[in-house]
Amino acid sequence: MRVGQGFDVHRLVPERKLILGGITIPYELGLLGHSDADVLVHAVMDAMLGAIGAGDIGRHFPDHDPAYRDADSLKLLAEVVKMVNASGAKIANVDATVIAERPKLASFIPQMRQRLADILRISAERINVKATTTEGLGFTGKGEGIAAMAMVLMDESHD
Ligand code: MG
Repeated sequence: MRVGQGFDVHRLVPERKLILGGITIPYELGLLGHSDADVLVHAVMDAMLGAIGAGDIGRHFPDHDPAYRDADSLKLLAEVVKMVNASGAKIANVDATVIAERPKLASFIPQMRQRLADILRISAERINVKATTTEGLGFTGKGEGIAAMAMVLMDESHD
């Protein structure tokens, strides 16, 4: 078994779409970033890269590379899935937490799980997405940004 963890933060700004787990969420602010700034997908990618000992998202998808400008993070996630497959590991489960004061995310979580499951090619039941606030404290509490954490467990194949 191998475990990996990921963490990411993006700033909330006007005139950007809010995309979390590949789902566009109606809100007056969106996340700022070189790509689509999907903070949840980025945390999951870093967790997967960690589990296979392959560094981090910045190494594989540098934010100064014009190829990744406004990139769909699900496409980058699909690239990481290829790396996982090439390593011989299999994703056992993913558990992630989005830390945001607003908007309320609970009603979007089933769609996020399904979208992630489609890319990871595992059952949505093996992907858990949670949302929490920081009770008004810190940058997430003040609505200045959204953070996400993820953990992934992988089975190593021995053939
Ligand atoms: Mg990021």
